[in-house]
Amino acid sequence: MAITAPRGTQDVAPSDSYKWQFVERTVLETAALFGFREIRTPTFEQIELFQRGVGNTTDVVQKEMFEVKGQKGKDIFALKPEGTAGVVRAALENGFLNDALPLKVCYVTPCFRHERPQAGRLREFHQFGCEAFGSKSPYADVELISLVDHILKLFGVKNISLNINSIGCKTCRAEYHAALQAYFAQYKDQLCDTCLERLDKNPMRILDCKSPTCGEIAENAPVVTDYLCDECKAHFTAVKRGLTKLGIAYVVNPKIVRGLDYYTKTVFEFVSSEIGAQGTVVGGGRYDGLVEELGGKPAPALGFAMGIERFLLLFDAQGIELPKPSVCDLYIGSIGIPAGEKAMEIADKLRTEGFSVQFDIMDRSVKAQMKYANKLGAKMSMILGDNELVTGKAQIKDMATGEQKEIDFENELVNVLYDAALAAEADALAGQLGEDAFKRIMQLGNEKTE
Ligand code: ATP
Ligand code: MG
Repeated sequence: MAITAPRGTQDVAPSDSYKWQFVERTVLETAALFGFREIRTPTFEQIELFQRGVGNTTDVVQKEMFEVKGQKGKDIFALKPEGTAGVVRAALENGFLNDALPLKVCYVTPCFRHERPQAGRLREFHQFGCEAFGSKSPYADVELISLVDHILKLFGVKNISLNINSIGCKTCRAEYHAALQAYFAQYKDQLCDTCLERLDKNPMRILDCKSPTCGEIAENAPVVTDYLCDECKAHFTAVKRGLTKLGIAYVVNPKIVRGLDYYTKTVFEFVSSEIGAQGTVVGGGRYDGLVEELGGKPAPALGFAMGIERFLLLFDAQGIELPKPSVCDLYIGSIGIPAGEKAMEIADKLRTEGFSVQFDIMDRSVKAQMKYANKLGAKMSMILGDNELVTGKAQIKDMATGEQKEIDFENELVNVLYDAALAAEADALAGQLGEDAFKRIMQLGNEKTE
């Protein structure tokens, strides 16, 4: 029987991987503009890290974790269900927090959660995440949200709404928890089993329940923002003021909770109604208690994670196309062994100049070679035979227009390809991404080549 991929996983086809490469590069480069540098942490960690770092009472830890047994079953690891816990562990273990603060790091990582697979919900998915440590200033919250906003604008994403909320600190949360418990206790006979458990340990998570009955009950529950202490209230006001100053539209949504003890103050989500039921593309917030929870000296921190699969779904829904790189700038066809060897030699030389060039390695007839060049989407083609080897001249053909011209293929090819590639790339980028994004990406390209 044929072996199939595990449920809830996806292959990225060679014809689609350019989208992933473009998105990953662009988000990391945008994060760099905000001072975030990439960090890479292991795909698996000691299970205890997630039990403490994500929280024992969360669905992610209780129901969704992929456990991995070490040899002889001695050590128990887990595949990372999210990126933050590993980053905090790495920062503490390597002493990153002893350096100049703030520490700003970002990553693109696979994540694993044993959930029921459906559109926008996978068992292996990918997150782009950013974490900032050391700042308790509301400017840090605004800057982080603004980074997401920049990315969305860069790709031309529309109709995505930013929901924000403040869930307070330890002090004000205690009073709010008591109010929630008193409220939900009246509906004990109607709450789902999971929410009954939450009632004691973590009543805020009831607000997040997906069951319709619990949702209805939660409609009239006390609202956290009514319970904020003066400091939390001032922080939230400053965050909202900052967003307004930067022209970032938001709605305050008291239903957004991140239910863990170490989440504090600001929480936010970017939600779309165009990609089905799993509409949250980005989730983030402050977690001022987490560093301490994982054994470090208390340090304020905040971060977000964007689901890359959902981000790509959004592009499909909104018809956003990403620039497709050229698979083949030039196909060199050949007839006979000497011409075949020449084609190989020229291809090799042009590749050192940065062009994608292909020649026949299938021993095909020249007609079949050209058919393949067409299928590849080669931008230009050239055919070498004995005659061309003698004269040093060949016809180069623009595959889109059919135009041909004779060139000295030893000396003129690089310039011809360079002009064509530059023109095509500029067209593609400008057409697909809008002028601002285009300018910025060209600028990034230039910086790199300088
Ligand atoms: P949801 O409410 O959709 O389950 P979550 O609160 O579990 O999301 P987070 O832990 O905040 O999600 O993860 C951040 C982002 O990662 C989400 O906003 C989403 O874009 C993405 N994400 C989370 N779980 C999955 C999954 N199983 N498949 C694909 N993307 C996911
Ligand atoms: Mg989830």
